[in-house]
Amino acid sequence: MAKVLILGAGISGHTAAMALRKSLGKQHEVVVVSPNSNYQWVPSNIWVGIGQMKTRQVIFPLAPVYRRKGIIFKQALAKAVFPEGDAQMASPHVEIEYVDEQQRGTTEKVAYDYLINATGPKLNFAATEGLGPDGHSLSVCTYGHAAHTWEKLQESLDRMAKGERQRFVIGTGHPLATCQGAAFEYALNVAFEINKRKLMHLAEITWITNEYELGDFGMGGAFIKKGGYVTSTKIFTESILAEYGIHWIKRAGVKKVEPGTIWYENLDGETLSVPFDFAMLIPAFAGVGITARNKAGDDITASLFAANGLMKVDADYAAKDFADWSVRDWPSTYQSPAYENIFACGIAFAPPHAISKPFKSKNGTPIFPTPPRTGMPSGVMGKVVAKNVARSIKEGKVVLKHRASMGRMGAACIISSGYGLRDGMAATMTVFPVVPDFEKYPEWGRDINYTVGEPGLAGHWMKLFMHYMFMYKAKGLPGWSLIPE
Ligand SMILES: Cc1cc2nc3c(=O)[nH]c(=O)nc-3n(C[C@H](O)[C@H](O)[C@H](O)COP(=O)(O)OP(=O)(O)OC[C@H]3O[C@@H](n4cnc5c(N)ncnc54)[C@H](O)[C@@H]3O)c2cc1C
Repeated sequence: MAKVLILGAGISGHTAAMALRKSLGKQHEVVVVSPNSNYQWVPSNIWVGIGQMKTRQVIFPLAPVYRRKGIIFKQALAKAVFPEGDAQMASPHVEIEYVDEQQRGTTEKVAYDYLINATGPKLNFAATEGLGPDGHSLSVCTYGHAAHTWEKLQESLDRMAKGERQRFVIGTGHPLATCQGAAFEYALNVAFEINKRKLMHLAEITWITNEYELGDFGMGGAFIKKGGYVTSTKIFTESILAEYGIHWIKRAGVKKVEPGTIWYENLDGETLSVPFDFAMLIPAFAGVGITARNKAGDDITASLFAANGLMKVDADYAAKDFADWSVRDWPSTYQSPAYENIFACGIAFAPPHAISKPFKSKNGTPIFPTPPRTGMPSGVMGKVVAKNVARSIKEGKVVLKHRASMGRMGAACIISSGYGLRDGMAATMTVFPVVPDFEKYPEWGRDINYTVGEPGLAGHWMKLFMHYMFMYKAKGLPGWSLIPE
C-alpha cells in the first residue's frame, strides 16, 4: 500500500487529489490536509466582491466529497516536513496542526510515500504597511475578503446615490505583486456597477499597477491576434480602461496604505500618493511558511524552499540576467531536487525568475510583476504531478513520464464585467505558451495562432458557464473527469 499526502485543497491540490483517487486502487491511500473546510472557486470571488454572487455560491464543503470519493481529509495546517523521518517516526512525514473545532491545536505526524505541496500563496499583506482588510485597504483574494469588500462597496455606492463623489483605487498593493488579471477584472466590474446605477459622473476610478506597461499581466505582455490584426496587450488593455472611464498609474510600487492615502514609489525613485475612499489592492504572495528538518533534526528548510517560502522544484534557479532567461529555466515535473518523492504545484512552486522584464527604481526598489500561476496552469500542474505519482506507485519506482512546463502550456483568461445573460462584456484572451519562447517563436515569443483576444458578450457567457462547470467538476459529480482543467 502507498500513501500520497497532498497539502492544500485549492485548484492544484484538489485536482491532484481527485486525479490520484481516480487512478489508484483502493489499497492506496490519498490524504488531503487543508485548513479550510470548504473548497472555493477563487475566480468567482470577483462576483462576490460586487454583490452578484453570494459566498455560498462559490464554495462547498470538502468533507462529503472526499468521503464519497474515499479520500481522507484532515482539516489542518501543514507545519513541518520531515523527508527522512525523525527520532519518533522513521518514515517521511509531515507534522500538521488541526484547526477544526473538535481538534483545534492538536498536532499529528502524517506519514507519506509521496508528498504533493499545493498550499498556494500566503497573502502577504504584512509586506506593505497598512495593506489589507486588517489595515486600510480591501481584498477579493478569499471569499471572506470579497464579501467584506462588497459591504464596503455598497457604502460607497450609497454615498454616491446621495450625491457624494467617491475615489476608487484598484490594483497591486506591493512593488512585486502578481495576479494583475484578478484586480483588473475587479476594476472593470466596479466601473460596470457604478455605470449601471448611472453614477459614473461621481466616480473617479484609478487602476494602479506595478506593470511597466499596461497589459503586462506578469507574463511580459503579449501580442495577440484580434479580428485578423496583431495588437499588443498594452493597446488592448488601455482601450478597455479608456472605454470604462478608468484612469491609470503604472510603474508604481505601493509601499504604504494610510487611511485615505496610498503611498507608492515610481521608477524615478519619487514617493507619490493617491487619495482614495475605496481601495482594493492585491498583496504580495509568499510561501505559507512550512519548515523542513532532516533525520538528525537539522533545519533544511533552505534546501527545500526558496527564500520567499515557495518550494524549489526542477527549475533552473541560477541567477541570470534578463537577456539570458530561457523557457528551459521553467520546471516541467515539479519534483523537488532534494527528495524525489516530493512535488510542488500551482502557486506553491518557486518560479526560476519573473516572466516580465525586471525594473528597479532609482532607489534600487524592484518594481515589476512576479509571475502569475493562474487557474488553468495550476490545475494542469496538479494533474500532471498526480499522473506521475500514480505511475510511480504502480511501477514501484519514481517515473516522470508526464510534463507540463509553463513554457509549453497555454492559458485562457477571461476578464469579464457585469453579470447575467444579457448584461456584461468580457475580454477573452488565450496565450500560448504562458512563458514566451523566443527560440521557437522568434517574432512574437508566442504562437500567434493561439494567442488571441476578443472583447464581447460571448466571453462573458463563457465565464459564467465556467463557474458552474468547474464547481461541478470539483464536486466530483458524474462525468467530472471528462471536464478539462
Ligand atoms: C480574486 C481572484 C480571481 C482570480 N481569477 C482567476 C481567473 O479568472 N482565471 C484564472 O485562471 N485564475 C484566476 N485567479 C488565480 C487562481 O485563483 C489561482 O491561480 C489558483 O487559485 C491557484 O491554485 P493553487 O491551488 O495553487 O492555490 P489556492 O487555490 O490558493 O489553494 C491553496 C490551498 O492550500 C491551502 N493551504 C494554505 N496553507 C496551508 C497549509 N499550511 N497546509 C495545508 N494547506 C494549506 C489553502 O487553504 C488552499 O486550500 C484568480 C485569483 C484571485 C485571487
